[in-house]
Amino acid sequence: MPIDSDFQTKRQATGEHRGHKVWGSIEPPAKLGIHGTNTAVDWDVCLGDGICVDVCPVSLYEMVDTPDHPLSSRKADPAREKDCIHCLACEMQCPVAAIKITPIA
Ligand code: SF4
Repeated sequence: MPIDSDFQTKRQATGEHRGHKVWGSIEPPAKLGIHGTNTAVDWDVCLGDGICVDVCPVSLYEMVDTPDHPLSSRKADPAREKDCIHCLACEMQCPVAAIKITPIA
């Protein structure tokens, strides 16, 4: 299932990680929530293949270890969310549609 593009209305920001919000629900290690807001990655969808890291022209993402998550043991973290130039390369190329880019209005 892809990231829910309406997550900002359906979920609550329940935490913070390295300067970005994390949207719940969160029950580690199996449920890790959505990291980031305008550059959002659903860690419960992400397979950790790192394509977003490769295609992002501003090197926004960093891989983070997530041991014991049922889908993958690493995830793409929007570590420098504010650097996004909204090119949509990551959203278009993610094989499991784990990413939602919402340009700041
Ligand atoms: S939309 Fe473009 S700039 Fe923003 S995170 Fe994705 S690849 Fe990087």
